[in-house]
This record gives sequence, structure tokens and C-alpha cells, in this order.
Amino acid sequence: MQLTDRIKRIQISPTAAVIAEADRLKSQGVDIADFGPGEPDFPTPDHIKKAAIRAIEANKSKYTPTGGIMPLREAICAWHKRELGSNYAAKECIVSVGGKHGIFNVVSVLVQAGDEVIIPAPYWVSFPDIVKYAGATPVYVQTRPEDGFSVKAAAIEKAITPKTKLLILNSPSNPSGGVVPPDEYERILAICKKHNVWLMGDECYSHFTYEPHKPFSIASAADSKNNVIVIGSMSKTFAMTGWRIGYVLGSADLIQALTKLQSQSTSNPTSIAQYAALEAMTGSMDSVPQMLAEYAKRRRRIVDGLRAIPGVTCVEPGGAFYAFPNVSAHLAGGSSGHAIAKDSSELAKLLLDRARVALVGGEGFGAPGYLRLSYATSIERIDEGLRRLERFFSRVEAAA
Ligand code: PLP
Repeated sequence: MQLTDRIKRIQISPTAAVIAEADRLKSQGVDIADFGPGEPDFPTPDHIKKAAIRAIEANKSKYTPTGGIMPLREAICAWHKRELGSNYAAKECIVSVGGKHGIFNVVSVLVQAGDEVIIPAPYWVSFPDIVKYAGATPVYVQTRPEDGFSVKAAAIEKAITPKTKLLILNSPSNPSGGVVPPDEYERILAICKKHNVWLMGDECYSHFTYEPHKPFSIASAADSKNNVIVIGSMSKTFAMTGWRIGYVLGSADLIQALTKLQSQSTSNPTSIAQYAALEAMTGSMDSVPQMLAEYAKRRRRIVDGLRAIPGVTCVEPGGAFYAFPNVSAHLAGGSSGHAIAKDSSELAKLLLDRARVALVGGEGFGAPGYLRLSYATSIERIDEGLRRLERFFSRVEAAA
């Protein structure tokens, strides 16, 4: 089949591939300890579900304005101001079909062939491919485990060239859990301003930060509007991955361009899901600290469990719900001296085949030598998965 050059520039998401294989095995009755999917295991809170049911019953099932219903855009701005200290008006907000759609559209309207986009690594798998699809070139800035995978302003400045148009900053980070502290984030904003570079803050995990970190948006910084673009999502904060509602906050000109693109592609996000999101933005947020407390317990258990495995090191994630251990000691050229696999993707495959543990190799995140484990799963399943991992690594050790 003759496909376009642009579709050939990207690949299917490596996380999706692992999840599909784990699901295939599960459908055959295989018991998998599943650390694959990056989505909350909690149900959407009842009051949000009920708002959607009410919307269906009230026949809120017509097209809506392309950029989302006005009450939702107003509510997102009010929520973001209250929770994260920004100051946007409805004309500076568009509702998208999830955060990923918002990112895709922002990149589409801001960059093209010849432009460079800075992405700190490890990165969320979709960032580079979205940039490549737009014809631009991703430029990676390596973060360090000893810094908790938190990117430094100085490293960003070094990577800037006359071609740099955009920096994509995801804090807390998927996959590393790295959090950029407010003072460093403000230094990064100052550098972006100096070099006239857009700063897109992906805040999908903003409310899942662990002490001493707090939810933070760079949009709270004074005079940030001309450079900052905020990507937000209902998916993680309100356990609403399947509803597909996210948003973009930015200058009115940018929002107009995004509205034009949406008007010729997706049109409005699902009307009923918008009413559910309106309830999320205006109703009780009690479920959020409850989920965070549960994630905090799971984080403790999984990080301690991983660190107890010989040859495995694991940085304390500051936010999100992923553990990101380094297993390079067990890979080709590693310090254990008896490699289990050539790289972490091969190791992930072995773990699924032999230990029945689903997780994702670091290569897709720009982090060879690492594995990503989502701990959005119960403590019981985490314990079971850790037992399997310990057994797998100790058997391999014993056989060596
Ligand atoms: N950004 C990051 C860093 C993510 O991990 C995800 C989802 O996994 C998204 C954005 C997109 O989420 P959604 O499109 O469900 O809002």
C-alpha cells in the first residue's frame, strides 16, 4: 500500500503493543501481573458518572461548539485558577478529545519542517512521534537519575538553536515520575522567553505529586501567557481515561488556530463527556486526595520491592504513578556479568513470557536500561508482581 511519508515517520505506541499482548494472554486465561497500562484502576467518581447520565436523559446529544460548551470552558479556567493559580478566560481555552489530542493539535499549529522541538528524556512515548508527524525534529535533553529525572534550565538552554520553536515539559513525568520544582520551572520559562521559544507544559499528572512536591503550573508565573501553553486532562486526575476530555490553555490567537483545526477534523469532543467533565471541574474533588493516598502507599511498596532485587536501582518518583527502575546490570554489558537480555525491551518480553509480568521496556521512552511499571493497580497485585520479579531474577542469578 502506498502510504504518505508522514505516516511512515511514526510507529505504533510501544506501550500500546505491550498492553495488547498482555490483554491477549489474559483473554486466554493467563494470570498476568499487569504493570502495563498508564491508567487509573479506580472507577470514575459517581457524581461525574451521574452528570453524564443526566446529560443523556436531557438529550444533550447534539453537536456542541467546536471548542467545547462555554460553561465547560469557563469551568476549566476557574478550576485551573483555583487549583493551580493561573488566569485564563474562556477564549483562551479549548476542550479537546483528551490531552493527547491537545498536544497533537498544538504541535500541528506551531511547528513544521525545519523546526526543532526540545523534549527532555526519558519522555512520554507520544511526544517524539507527534513532533515527527508534524515534520519537525525532536531534540532530546537527557535528565539524570541523581536529579530525580528533573530537567535543568541550563541543559535546556544548551539545546536551544535558532531552529528551536517549542519545548515540551511534562511534570510530573510519565515515565520517570520526575517533577520540576517551581523555581527551576521559572528559570526554564525565563530561558524560553529569552530565546522566543514556546513552553508547552503537559500537566496531565499535576494532582498526583507526593510530598514534598505540590501541584504546580507554570501558568501561575507572572507574565507567562505569551510563551506558555498548558495541556490538561480529565483522564488521570478524575479517572476518566475513556471519556476522552482534555483541554488547552493559551493565548487567544493560539486557541483560535486550534479551533480552526478541530473544526476541520474531530469537531467537538463528545457532548455527554463534556457534561461529565463540567461536573468534574465544578463538583467535589474528594476522590482526588483519596486516590493520591492510595498511589502513595503503592509507590512505597513497589519502589522498596524493586530496590530489594539484586542489581536493580530505582529512583523515588516524585509524582504520577510509575516506577522506573534501572535494570542495566542485568543487560548485555551490564555489571552482573551474566546478561539476561540484550536490552530492556527484550527483558520486558522475557518477563511477560516467562514470569507473566507485563511492563514496558525503556527504549520507547528514550531510556535504554530501564523498565516502566505502572502502579495503578492494587497492593495485592503489586505484591504478586514483585514476587514474580524476585523469583525471575533470582532464578536467572542462580542459573548463571
Ligand atoms: N501526557 C502524558 C504524559 C500522558 O502520560 C498521557 C496519557 O498517558 C497523556 C498526556 C494523554 O492523556 P489523555 O489523552 O488520556 O488525556
